[in-house]
Amino acid sequence: MKFCPNCGSDRLEKRIPAGDNRPRLVCLNCKTIHYSNPKVVAGCLPVWEDKVLLCRRAIEPCYGLWNIPSGYLENGETVEMGAEREVHEEAAAKVRITYLISMYSLPKINQIYLQFVGELINGAYGVGEESLESKLFTEAEIPWEEMAFTSSTFALRRYFEDRKAGLQRLHRGEYPML
Ligand code: ZN
Repeated sequence: MKFCPNCGSDRLEKRIPAGDNRPRLVCLNCKTIHYSNPKVVAGCLPVWEDKVLLCRRAIEPCYGLWNIPSGYLENGETVEMGAEREVHEEAAAKVRITYLISMYSLPKINQIYLQFVGELINGAYGVGEESLESKLFTEAEIPWEEMAFTSSTFALRRYFEDRKAGLQRLHRGEYPML
């Protein structure tokens, strides 16, 4: 940030505000403290019969690799709304959310993934603008070596393990392990 989004001044400085315990970017002109906090990424694994729907990314990072439909939560959305929107944008599909499977922290890049499992309505899907391809996979067909993010691999592995055990539950993960 070069200019204060509040007043346009370039008098920005890292300071520890009174009563705080870590440096923040403070505007010396209008006194606004510009907090920087982790972003939430919402996603949903669409399930149809014994298969799950993955999308192959048409955008960087990880262009060409497979992923669970997910993306940054927008202002004004619940996590569920964000997850459903991402499924629509990336796979042109509708889901009925079943349960939250993964809360996954990425403290080095300041992101938190919240991923659901959902029922793919009518088994219908297409290819969204941010995807090269969408495809239903059985567990044996999952391209584990071509997955985009550890957050998705984590959720997918837990999903298949739990499905065999007849469980629907939340798992917590992080990368790298702290
Ligand atoms: Zn300012």
